[in-house]
Amino acid sequence: MADTDVRNVIVIGGGPAGYTAALYSARALLEPLVIEGVSWGGQLMNTSEVENFPGYSEGVLGPKMMSDLRAQAKRFGTEFVTDDAVRVDLSQRPFVVETGEATYRAKVLIIATGARARELGCPSEAALQGKGVSYCAVCDAAFFRDQKIVVVGGGDSALEDALFLTRFAEKVSIVHRRDEFRAEPIMLARARSNEKIELITSAVVDEVLGAESGKVTGLRLRSSKTDETWEIEAGGVFVAIGHDPNTSLFLDSLDHDEAGYLKTKAHSTATNLHGVFAAGDVQDPVFRQAVTAAGSGCMAALEAERLLAVEEQERAAG
Ligand code: NAP
Repeated sequence: MADTDVRNVIVIGGGPAGYTAALYSARALLEPLVIEGVSWGGQLMNTSEVENFPGYSEGVLGPKMMSDLRAQAKRFGTEFVTDDAVRVDLSQRPFVVETGEATYRAKVLIIATGARARELGCPSEAALQGKGVSYCAVCDAAFFRDQKIVVVGGGDSALEDALFLTRFAEKVSIVHRRDEFRAEPIMLARARSNEKIELITSAVVDEVLGAESGKVTGLRLRSSKTDETWEIEAGGVFVAIGHDPNTSLFLDSLDHDEAGYLKTKAHSTATNLHGVFAAGDVQDPVFRQAVTAAGSGCMAALEAERLLAVEEQERAAG
């Protein structure tokens, strides 16, 4: 396994936060290395049109936007490793990051590993992903024109997805595990007044049906009150039950909340460890936007640059 020189900055993560952190660090002449992951680009790689990223007045496809961000970071000298970080050692500086192939060391680490959509966890879900099971209504809605669709979840994402899907689907059933909805009342009111939307409460998905035919044909639901099960017909199921941060590598070393999101200091991307910063969805359960992720990636790079400059001055002063 190759053991490389100590870098100024390693960014882990190839989404809007990671590439923006790399862009700013590269322009500060810190020669950053981005360990961007095998499937770089982050959640926007599964999105179609992005209409709310400033600067793209006509909208842009998610993958195109991510390759633009990557190219911009590259232009100023960012180096990329298209592999997953599999282990880190943050117990001393320089910090150590390992991929399957090599070991990298850096004075400063910027963690921008993002978050991923939660899965239902029922047996046939994985086999039917891309065959009727989707985690992104905006990406896949058009494939379900005039069909019966189920959205799972009771938060704002589920209701927003359901309302969006009514533009395409014949009928949208929202399946939620409780009677009370977590979503904003205004979203619930909109859903209730939409005649294409049906609310099925106190029910969970027991199984996604259709594995033997290779595409979703329906769902088996289970009452969370009585355990009774029943089946409903559906051509597609959109899972909108929240996200989990990609923080398993860091939970032993860094402060995090109950859900695993890394904690950063107020008005800063600094974690509890000197020299380790966190940017983007990995530390943000609230806003989760590409533009806010990019903004915090910029913050992390500026903070990294300042920290390294102060340390350099201290070294020079002896
Ligand atoms: P969320 O608010 O965490 O809601 C997740 C929903 O999924 C909850 O209703 C939860 O049920 C349910 N759930 C979780 N795990 C489940 C499981 N294993 N099986 C069945 N159901 C499960 O997530 P979100 O809707 O993605 O929203 C995240 C944040 O983004 C929120 O702050 C939200 O307000 C914000 N957001 C805002 C907008 C907007 O303003 N336009 C749009 C989208 C999202 P319980 O309620 O029983 O826990």
